[in-house]
Amino acid sequence: MGKVIVITSGKGGVGKTTSTANLGTALAMIGKTVVIIDADVGLRNLDVVMGLESRVVYTSMDVIEKRCELEKALVKDRRVEDLFLLAASQRNRKDDIKPEQMLEICERLKEIYDFVLIDSPAGIEQGFHNAAAGADEAIIVTTPDVSAIRDADRIIGLLQNLDIEQITLVLNRLSPTLVKKGNMISKNDVLDILNIDLLGIVPEDPDVIASTNRGVPLVHNNGSPGAEAYMRIARRMIGQRIPIPEMRDDNFFSNILQWFSRNK
Ligand code: ADP
Ligand code: MG
Repeated sequence: MGKVIVITSGKGGVGKTTSTANLGTALAMIGKTVVIIDADVGLRNLDVVMGLESRVVYTSMDVIEKRCELEKALVKDRRVEDLFLLAASQRNRKDDIKPEQMLEICERLKEIYDFVLIDSPAGIEQGFHNAAAGADEAIIVTTPDVSAIRDADRIIGLLQNLDIEQITLVLNRLSPTLVKKGNMISKNDVLDILNIDLLGIVPEDPDVIASTNRGVPLVHNNGSPGAEAYMRIARRMIGQRIPIPEMRDDNFFSNILQWFSRNK
């Protein structure tokens, strides 16, 4: 039986789609069978980031409305074996889909595939509830800034009320230089605020933007810091004990921590 993992955040633009594309690809590269589901309709959709937009014929909406079998709606990746995408309909609104319908899709997929990763929309509306409906676990993505962390905190609260077994954190776009200078909230401060386990840190990496635009997930780009970070995270997801490399941490931002506890 596979695992369904929702990749979510609260705030938009923090790296959910990037993380879904890269972790899905990385897991397939290390031999797992994977489906990534787009539960968001955004500017840079999962199909675009994967370079699969021209291959999308059916969407999850077609499956729900029984115009197409689930297996037939899955788009096979161009580059990696055993990696498939279930695309989101561009024509429908988020509340055209109901949580029970997403749950059913997830239940069926996890009988066949090792991992089902769901790219969640931002916010705490219906779209989020659909994305989380079938999830066994959640990965929260946040960037090290106050508004993203605050929204992540809210989402963690919501997820704790659902039937989610495990909630872990990916801290994205951390810049070691800025943390060193004391100009960015440190990893430890983020963890103190959110109080969930750290799954991994992805550094700020200019190659991410280039890869997004080319439709080739970064993990294909061996050696770039972002790619290596995502590969390590994928290995942790399959239970390997891969240490999280230290970026120097300081406590310049403890005042922000205090600000948070005051405003809770
Ligand atoms: P979301 O799905 O949460 O809205 P995206 O994954 O679309 O966010 O990312 C938003 C933008 O940030 C994209 O342009 C993406 O290329 C960029 N980005 C994400 N992660 C990184 C990173 N680690 N380094 C640099 N740019 C990044
Ligand atoms: Mg997105």
